[in-house]
Amino acid sequence: MTPLSADAPTTTDAARALFLELTGREPDGLWSAPGRVNLIGEHTDYNDGFVLPFAIPHRTVAAVDLRDDDRGRVRVASTFAAEPVEVALDELDDLFPTATGAEPAVPEWAAYPLGVAWALRQALAATDSDRGFRGIDIAIASDVPVGAGLSSSAAIEGAAASALNDLWDAGLDRRALARIGRRAENEAVGAPTGIMDQMASMLGEPDAAIFLDCRSLETQLVPLGMADAGLAILVIDTRVTHAHSTGGYRERRASCELGAQIMGVPSLRDVSVDDLPRAQELMDGVTFRRVRHVVTENQRVIDTVRVLRDAGARAIGDLLVASHASMRDDFEISVPELDTAVDTALAAGAVGARMTGGGFGGAAIALIEQDAVAAVSDAVTAAFAAADFTEPIVFTVTPSAGARRDA
Ligand code: ADP
Ligand code: MG
Repeated sequence: MTPLSADAPTTTDAARALFLELTGREPDGLWSAPGRVNLIGEHTDYNDGFVLPFAIPHRTVAAVDLRDDDRGRVRVASTFAAEPVEVALDELDDLFPTATGAEPAVPEWAAYPLGVAWALRQALAATDSDRGFRGIDIAIASDVPVGAGLSSSAAIEGAAASALNDLWDAGLDRRALARIGRRAENEAVGAPTGIMDQMASMLGEPDAAIFLDCRSLETQLVPLGMADAGLAILVIDTRVTHAHSTGGYRERRASCELGAQIMGVPSLRDVSVDDLPRAQELMDGVTFRRVRHVVTENQRVIDTVRVLRDAGARAIGDLLVASHASMRDDFEISVPELDTAVDTALAAGAVGARMTGGGFGGAAIALIEQDAVAAVSDAVTAAFAAADFTEPIVFTVTPSAGARRDA
């Protein structure tokens, strides 16, 4: 077997060790996929709009092999869970899609990898109904913080999808695998999320962000030049956990759908900043503010890409700050911990800062000078202590490679 991935030796070791514990043998291979940070473009993905994420060094690793017994069963284990979960491949079509309001048939974490197996199997069966599928064992370990807005969910989907794509000889490309992951998350887990996370996790490249048009799924790599510019990105995990599949996220989506319907367009992608005065006349105040966030955020993503290309990363600070204000005031998805992180980072000299991810907790990012990492981290940690918040976890991220086979 080739040497272990240099950037995640402990996670890789943990996945391999868990596989050994599960099966008594070495895996056929190790596949990994990263979490992501969204530089800008929040809650625009499900509105057919624009996003600008990048993959982070934190990865989820899947140690995987086909099963010798070939009884068509799939078994998943994670260092995250006490017990493995085993089902027959033929059973997957009975388990998923999970009916709204139904008791989940498997523990939630297992619905991610099993949902990927289900969605991939369905996609392949659609073109070849006689196709057979060998049973499979999957052991998962991860160093992506869970529920922090860094998309541990897309990382587990990406690792599982990459492994199954290879071992089942499915031949799907990265974009198709991103769609498999999204289908698993939407229909097996029941979380109504967009395609951004999976695309970022599948398509990430070192020192680049991915400018994604969520309608056409066209992507452009946008070089960030962080190291050359002497800049770093700090992630401030507030440790306030969010739950996408419930509450606020669904409500915001519903407001966006209502706003688009009132404007007579398929989605808010089709509303421009110039249309906002008319929107304000047509809709109630809350719906209008939700719409205004999405419409202005789409424009900010386009502006950020332009500024990155014309002037470089140091020039995007104001756009990041405006994005945060829009999420705090118009979309109302920030929390005091996120506002404290952003305000403190800016006061300590950050070029820009904003909450990232779905909101209601999770993480903020700050674009800072490389030599300010310690000063900004210390200032944020001190501000959290003064406010009696749980101590945040603060770390830097470099834009990194997407899903791959590691060994
Ligand atoms: P985020 O993607 O922001 O981390 P989500 O709520 O979308 O948060 O996804 C987190 C969920 O994904 C976890 O609660 C768990 O069910 C699943 N998950 C993520 N990583 C793992 C892992 N390594 N093992 C098992 N389940 C995981
Ligand atoms: Mg997620």
